[in-house]
Amino acid sequence: MRDAGILRNTAVAVSKGRIAMIGAANDLKNAYSNAEVIDCRGGVLTPGLVDSHTHAVFGKPRFEEHEQRADGLDYMEIAKRGGGIHASVRDFRQRTEDELYTLAIPRITELASYGTTTLEVKSGYGLSIEDELKAMRVIGRLAERQPVRIVATWLGAHEIPHEYRTSEARRAEFIDLLIDAMLPRVVEQDIARFADVFCEPGVFTIDETQRILEASRDAGLGIKLHADELKPCGGAELAASLGAVSADHLAAISQSGIEALAKSDTVATLLPGTMLFLGKTRQAPARALIDAGAAVALASDFNPGTSPTVNFPLMLTLGVSQLHMSLAEVLIAATVNGAAALGLAGETGQIAPGFAADLALFGIGDVRELPYWYGARLCVGSWKAGAPCHPYETGSNLHHRSPEVVPTG
Ligand SMILES: [Zn+2]
Repeated sequence: MRDAGILRNTAVAVSKGRIAMIGAANDLKNAYSNAEVIDCRGGVLTPGLVDSHTHAVFGKPRFEEHEQRADGLDYMEIAKRGGGIHASVRDFRQRTEDELYTLAIPRITELASYGTTTLEVKSGYGLSIEDELKAMRVIGRLAERQPVRIVATWLGAHEIPHEYRTSEARRAEFIDLLIDAMLPRVVEQDIARFADVFCEPGVFTIDETQRILEASRDAGLGIKLHADELKPCGGAELAASLGAVSADHLAAISQSGIEALAKSDTVATLLPGTMLFLGKTRQAPARALIDAGAAVALASDFNPGTSPTVNFPLMLTLGVSQLHMSLAEVLIAATVNGAAALGLAGETGQIAPGFAADLALFGIGDVRELPYWYGARLCVGSWKAGAPCHPYETGSNLHHRSPEVVPTG
């Protein structure tokens, strides 16, 4: 993760949705004399950003909880007042597929306007067979009709719904329902690529997580998990031993968890926006993970409760400021490693011949400005497989923020 391979005065040729050639503009003009030319005006072109962890399909936002937390209310107290994931579940179940689809469109358009071209979206606010299948259908429609690349994840094991929290026996019934009834329907529907479980004390135990993920893997889905967010409970170790594509959150990962991930191909996906928004001072140990040899990705965790942001480059800022990552590390975490966390390492996340032409253009003259102007929307255009994703804003002034940076073509 030390070298992001930054080139200057470089042009990119795109053919049939794939990157065909990279080199000096004149060489490319000679090789592709009939090509349509897009002038990037000396801006910074990156692989389209890959946001590998979101809960972007939901109904109403939960802004009242933000203030309640500031007032000192903890998770349990907010839940008692009807807030938390259960509030999103109640709301989600009442809404139609069309309504949820319509609500998601402007959110995804906004996510794309910050440079994201690949987006993972999880279900997990339905928690019944019909409502989870509804969530998956919404994600499937978005994947078909929206310009960004969308990867669908089934997160039926996001929480134990209220109606199954009345006794241990009822709780066990829910785990059986997930494995024996919901999973086969999700697989038959053929929209989900991954299964995910919220493995955390009080939600799904390590044993339950293992059962659900093994069944999902046997049914042909890739696997991911929410692990070690609040307490170290062996989630990272389980992810590595099951061959999960990623273990996500990890703010409370143990030393043995770090070692397990470093030895595996499982990507450590860190979500610094969530910790910032919740007012936590602890962040995942990105440095220890990277130094041990783990592949680290960054993601937004976009969701209505704990990370309501569409601004993925802000996660790069937090990566540098709070996780002590270098510029090269945050760039790779948001592209190459994000793609690996979605099983797309050979398809997107790099500007290299053969890769999909997923590109983001930023109105800055130096790549170091990307995490620097924090909170600003710097993306002025993006493409997925060569087709516009966020339409190129050709009228914008690319370099107004840094007068010393002279565009060189
Ligand atoms: Zn999540």
